[in-house]
Amino acid sequence: MASCDVLVVGGGPAGSTCARQLQRTGLDVMVIDKATFPRDKVCAGWITPSVVKTLDIDLDDYGKQHILQPITGFKVGILGKAQSEIRYQTAVSYGIRRIEFDDYLLRRSGARLRLGENVKSIQRQEGGWLVNGTISTPLIVGAGGNACPVARHIGSKIGGGEKVVIAKEIEFLMSPQQVEKCTIRADTPELFFCSDLKGYGWCLRKGDYLNLGFGREDTHPLSPHLEAFCNFLMRQDKLPAALPQSFHGHAYTLYGHTRRQLLADGVLIIGDAAGLATERSGEGIRPAIESALFAAQVINAAAGDYCKQRLLPYEDQLLAHFGMPSPPATGLIADAIRRSLGRILLNSLWFSRHVVLDSWFLHAEEAPRSLN
Ligand SMILES: Cc1cc2nc3c(=O)[nH]c(=O)nc-3n(C[C@H](O)[C@H](O)[C@H](O)COP(=O)(O)OP(=O)(O)OC[C@H]3O[C@@H](n4cnc5c(N)ncnc54)[C@H](O)[C@@H]3O)c2cc1C
Repeated sequence: MASCDVLVVGGGPAGSTCARQLQRTGLDVMVIDKATFPRDKVCAGWITPSVVKTLDIDLDDYGKQHILQPITGFKVGILGKAQSEIRYQTAVSYGIRRIEFDDYLLRRSGARLRLGENVKSIQRQEGGWLVNGTISTPLIVGAGGNACPVARHIGSKIGGGEKVVIAKEIEFLMSPQQVEKCTIRADTPELFFCSDLKGYGWCLRKGDYLNLGFGREDTHPLSPHLEAFCNFLMRQDKLPAALPQSFHGHAYTLYGHTRRQLLADGVLIIGDAAGLATERSGEGIRPAIESALFAAQVINAAAGDYCKQRLLPYEDQLLAHFGMPSPPATGLIADAIRRSLGRILLNSLWFSRHVVLDSWFLHAEEAPRSLN
């Protein structure tokens, strides 16, 4: 039998950030994850400077042993139409590989790790919880991603009535010949919006790795859209004809499009498990780590009394930080601009730069949170 002050379920960015913050305040934290790390995660692997700052990552140090691709521009447009190129003076984002990034954060957390163990049972017991029949803890932090078992345990109806974004992605190391032919510039990711503005595809090169994917909020299958996207990219020499692996799929919910339970007696839910990905861009790493920090703050303030009442400030902090969720009629792209207006606006360099990139994707106007 093992015990800990806090059990974090899930070792992604949300779980590792929360674990690190709690560990630093002297709590005995254990992270349990069904995967053994390093593990990959379906993701473009694009992080904003806010993430780097909040996590206090030394980029020079990180870049020595991991792929770190500074991004200084974007190409943006409607799929099949002309693209606008937008350039910045400095790096406005970075490309990382999730298989490296998540492992780095998890090892850095200093928490005890139980990897390769699926959370299958969560039972109430005197003074807290018994997980998998072997781990005893007064508090569980649910950071298990979109289908988090802890979120499910406290009553969130995962997949039921939620509006989800379905996405597929592939990331592979290009051969020297493919690198030579590749027309995607490493410092300039390309975004291709669907003509109905219900989603977008991306090509993001990180050194010699190419990541491309396609996501849509839709009830119809993604495959025809993905196939059309790949064919288009091949015609443009942006994608080699023979792909070394198949696409991996993943679903996630956007902030305001789900009503997940955020807490219960002895439980807090963070990151994708709480459905926090940013509405317009689908960025999920930043809200995952921010929610992790709010959770850690509230846990510390609760000083060992983890009844729901003491954890309630977490909900208030999320609401204050992320704002009131938009009405469900909006999504990756607001409905108001979704139809003809969106197509016209995306032809405008000003709109692509100041609204699509600076506001929706880069959150240029928002100050990062401090980890300390
Ligand atoms: C195609 C795609 C592209 C994306 N691109 C970006 C991007 O470029 N930038 C960005 O910011 N966001 C992106 N996102 C969103 C981002 O990937 C997520 O928001 C982010 O990973 C959330 O972090 P998390 O820690 O909450 O969950 P996760 O990273 O999903 O981690 C959850 C962890 O919980 C573990 N787990 C799950 N179930 C169990 C269980 N039963 N027992 C034990 N462990 C369990 C999993 O193994 C996993 O390690 C993208 C998402 C998709 C689908």
